[in-house]
Amino acid sequence: MKDILNNSPYRKDFPILNQEVNGYPLAYLDNAASTQKPQAVIDSILHYETKIHSNVHRGIHKLSHLASDAYEDVRCKVAQLINSLSRNEIIFTKGTTESINLVASSLAPLIQKNNEIIISSMEHHANIVPWQILCQKTGAKLLVCPITENGELNLIELDKLISSQTKMVAITHISNVLGTINPIQKILKRAHHVGAYTFVDAAQSIAHMNVDVQKLNCDFLAFSSHKLHGPTGTGVLYGKIALLNELSPYQTGGDMIKTVSFSETTFNAPPYKFEAGTPNIQGVIGMGAAIDYLATSTQEERYSYEKALTTYLVNCLQSISGLRIIGNPEYRSAIVSFVMDEIHPHDLATILDEYGVAIRAGHHCAMPLMEILGLPATARASISFYNNKNDIDQLCNAIEQAKRIFS
Ligand code: PMP
Repeated sequence: MKDILNNSPYRKDFPILNQEVNGYPLAYLDNAASTQKPQAVIDSILHYETKIHSNVHRGIHKLSHLASDAYEDVRCKVAQLINSLSRNEIIFTKGTTESINLVASSLAPLIQKNNEIIISSMEHHANIVPWQILCQKTGAKLLVCPITENGELNLIELDKLISSQTKMVAITHISNVLGTINPIQKILKRAHHVGAYTFVDAAQSIAHMNVDVQKLNCDFLAFSSHKLHGPTGTGVLYGKIALLNELSPYQTGGDMIKTVSFSETTFNAPPYKFEAGTPNIQGVIGMGAAIDYLATSTQEERYSYEKALTTYLVNCLQSISGLRIIGNPEYRSAIVSFVMDEIHPHDLATILDEYGVAIRAGHHCAMPLMEILGLPATARASISFYNNKNDIDQLCNAIEQAKRIFS
């Protein structure tokens, strides 16, 4: 009988995977950095560029109508994907990073000197720096929730940090280094209890678990299309409509206005208030095609496949002598970081590449976490539903080769 973990039914839909790198089949295990696109997404971009490209929300000609409809349809698709109450709560951005900058910048007028903003020590730089800058601008204080030995959020310490001064709790759903799935609902409940705003960085969760903004009851949430099998340069900021109405615009210019005179400007309603200038139309349409593609299979099927493959990955890595997995969370997503005795992660990744294996090595845009872990860098393998056991076997064989080279 064929092993299901060696026969991902999705793999055939991703043309890029069907190639050799350095004479070996490509084993693409860098999905936390960026996911690959199915043919359906590539086709949708081609269709847009060859049939309907034009500017949105502006023209009265046929192509502009078609492009505007296709673009606005994606807002509904995203709203459905994350179960938001209204398409007006979906803002298109360049990606997670821009979404966080948007919230942090637009919130500034509501932040006071004695306010506190809480993040965690497992955040990506994108969920650190914008809050740090906001604190510098407003005089608010940035507090950091520590992690436990296992690489989970220390909820006891978090409880101590949350107080009536807390204005924002901004936490990642899944750590891009440790793979930890955080108990977001619990955390946000505590934050709301003291009247704080809440932000969820869903960059690593959007493709790997159900992300339901009503269930999470988050005020804001962000993700990038390229981590959801869509194009780069596009992403989403979700915000509760009442809050979006309250926030100041992020950037100003065309499309985000209602009226302009030389003495005064009035702003459009959300989401347009936050979308200044010509957007990444092609990217948004490609993201819509990715959402459509994902709807052709069930989340449960994909997630249980990834879970079983991640268990296989963890077991295989654990059997390699001299290899140490970083973090041992009870709830792990499809991300595993590790280090080797005597081999720097960059050297390891370089050797793995010679064997056709693509992983990430470095600080993963989480320098403060690296400092806490006492490591300059880690190697990181991350899985998607199109990976097979073969990819992981190829990774482990290549690690053994690296060990031989360095012995
Ligand atoms: N947050 C997390 C947890 C991430 O993993 C990433 C991407 N590595 C980001 C934010 C930033 O995403 P982007 O570069 O697509 O804006």
